[in-house]
Amino acid sequence: SAKLRETLEVVRYDKRMESEDLDHKRIERELRRALAEGEGLEIHYQPIVPASLGAAPIRYEALARWTSPELGAVAPDRFIKVAEASGLIMPLGWRLLDLVCADMRLMDQARVSINISPAQLMSRGFAEKFTAVVLSHGIAPWRIEVEVTEQIVVRDDATIEHELIALSHNGFTLALDDFGTGFASIGYLTQMPFDVLKIDRSFVRSIEDGQQGMRMVRSIVGLARAMELSIVAEGVESEAEAVLLRRIGADFLQGYHFGRPAPVSAWIKPGAGPRPDPA
Ligand code: C2E
Ligand code: MG
Ligand code: MG
Ligand code: MG
Repeated sequence: SAKLRETLEVVRYDKRMESEDLDHKRIERELRRALAEGEGLEIHYQPIVPASLGAAPIRYEALARWTSPELGAVAPDRFIKVAEASGLIMPLGWRLLDLVCADMRLMDQARVSINISPAQLMSRGFAEKFTAVVLSHGIAPWRIEVEVTEQIVVRDDATIEHELIALSHNGFTLALDDFGTGFASIGYLTQMPFDVLKIDRSFVRSIEDGQQGMRMVRSIVGLARAMELSIVAEGVESEAEAVLLRRIGADFLQGYHFGRPAPVSAWIKPGAGPRPDPA
């Protein structure tokens, strides 16, 4: 009966919530342990290539990877969410920044994009500490791009704006990630000091579906042009997509077609060593 079906649905729903809750707790506990023991966290890098043909990759996106002895590999979407909800995002974020900076010393002059959660930007003084950490590693701020998602718009938090402006002022590049999936308004884009707009892969996927997808991506590119933002297309999986994106006028392309995220050792030239200490 409908009533029985309804009851079963509710039970199933409760069970799922319960197991998600359990998962959340286990992930939190294991993540706490990983941070304390300093193990299992690493960074993979995915090339971001200039849209003009033949150019070598000079930019990468840093993507967090975590393998727990208990849980195995946990997807970043999942453990970042748990870290944000539990406050672990702060220590985790600093740990990841240290790992990226150490790797960047092996990467010559390459630029690296780092994802930052709204929760990190909501803490006052974030930009100042971020800058101090980067400089302490001897890395020039212009080599680092900070990626934030449109989630920051939803938070509508004065501290976030303040910290973003401070980061830009200190020489970091700012990118708006996953553009088109959230709530960023044109007004917001003009107010904040963004340099780069990353078109979400759902739009990239739509360009082969026909005129409507093409039109949508064209208009995003047009908007970015008018605002003097550089455009990165994410999630490019085929040469056909790359051809269309070049034609539309994307500046940089990123996706499995050009390279999957991999440890720094996959990208550095043999013989390249750490640069001598500044200071
Ligand atoms: P994102 O910043 O939008 O990163 C791009 C995601 O798309 C990555 O997933 C990447 O592996 C994936 N990707 C790249 N090319 C392709 C493609 O051609 N096809 C498909 N299907 N996917 C592609 P990943 O590494 O699983 O990361 C997921 C999300 O987790 C990231 O999305 C970012 O929001 C978050 N994240 C990852 N690392 C960090 C971090 O260190 N800090 C924070 N706060 N968030 C992070
Ligand atoms: Mg990103
Ligand atoms: Mg993205
Ligand atoms: Mg994403």
